[in-house]
Amino acid sequence: MNELSYILNELGEDRDQYFRAIAPPIMQTSNFAFKKVDELRKVFEDEFSNYLYSRGLNPTVDILRQKLAALDEAEDCLVFNSGASAIFASVFSNVQSGDHIVSVRSPYAWAQKMFDNVLPRFGISTTYVDGTKIENFERAILPNTKVIYLESPNSWEFVLQDLQAVAELAKAENITTICDNSYCTPLYQKPISLGIDMVLQSATKFIGGHSDVVAGVLSGTRQMMKKIFDSELLNMGNGITPFNAWLLIRGLRTLPIRLERITATTTKVVNYLKNHPQVEEVIFPFDSSFPQYDLARKQMTGACGLVTIVMKAEKMQQIVTFCESLRHILMAVSWGGHESLAIPRCASILPENFDAGNREHKMIRFYVGLEEPDYLIADFEQAFASSAEA
Ligand SMILES: *Cc1c(COP(=O)(O)O)cnc(C)c1O
Repeated sequence: MNELSYILNELGEDRDQYFRAIAPPIMQTSNFAFKKVDELRKVFEDEFSNYLYSRGLNPTVDILRQKLAALDEAEDCLVFNSGASAIFASVFSNVQSGDHIVSVRSPYAWAQKMFDNVLPRFGISTTYVDGTKIENFERAILPNTKVIYLESPNSWEFVLQDLQAVAELAKAENITTICDNSYCTPLYQKPISLGIDMVLQSATKFIGGHSDVVAGVLSGTRQMMKKIFDSELLNMGNGITPFNAWLLIRGLRTLPIRLERITATTTKVVNYLKNHPQVEEVIFPFDSSFPQYDLARKQMTGACGLVTIVMKAEKMQQIVTFCESLRHILMAVSWGGHESLAIPRCASILPENFDAGNREHKMIRFYVGLEEPDYLIADFEQAFASSAEA
């Protein structure tokens, strides 16, 4: 049985083990005791088989693992103490000195820093490609390419890759495919069912959903997860803590209704922004003006929360005034929580380098949270008005 309601409410929860409590216990223990030397020996030989020490397996984390793997339609998953950790473990476990990686252009910043700064120290090189065309992957593959790294959509301009086509190409070349699915969550896109080998997401975003946990999920075959557990996870000690796992189980209960609500509000916000005279362009994967709209509709069952605008601005000050005038929408990184957010691209640009002719410099990314749509639109309205006077 693989229905969503079953996964979120029952799967992995053996309530007879803990007084029929509805909410599972937080198994806040570092280690587990044994009665027999033979049992201990068995777990020493394979720590992925039983509870020994909470840097490895933990019962609260296991409840979460079962649910997340089922959502991803994967055999198994591992949960890390950040999305960045999940990214690192997924790639690092599949390469060795002399290997080559093909990555989509502009992946998540810390994926890019890993490719640019960390992996070259171990003799591992990366080629970035425009992932909108399958030929670009074909051309970039070398005899020593071991990993193709994808992020679809990415989190500023929502650029997509045709996951099924890339998976087919990679399979023929014996290359492992990894996809960052943070934007969609497994509710709106299932990369493994499209043929991708491993899927990861920052659970900090929609899974946690309340801006109070940093965590990451990596799903794949049981064999791959065991390999990563035995080396990267146990060596780096980057697994999630029982309490944070418990918070994610709690977040999962409401994931479908939060996404539903955010979808409805995002649609209203997108329509408002599209009709605003101070907005040059609205970028949103499920808007018919989106360059890869057909592909988005084909491989994603939903899109919500993140939307980017290119603001009409001659001076950076107009964007700065807009962002600083928002009263309810907070200026912050991240997304996926209850609260709406804004982040301007120009925060990563020195003021003297601002170029009003460069559309990227005028981008502001919004995250639409759980507030009432009118509350958000009124906030946009007064901030646009202040910006017009700047
Ligand atoms: C936030 C984010 C990550 C990193 O996750 P953390 O939980 O912050 O480590 C990775 N990929 C994408 C697309 C993200 O938005």
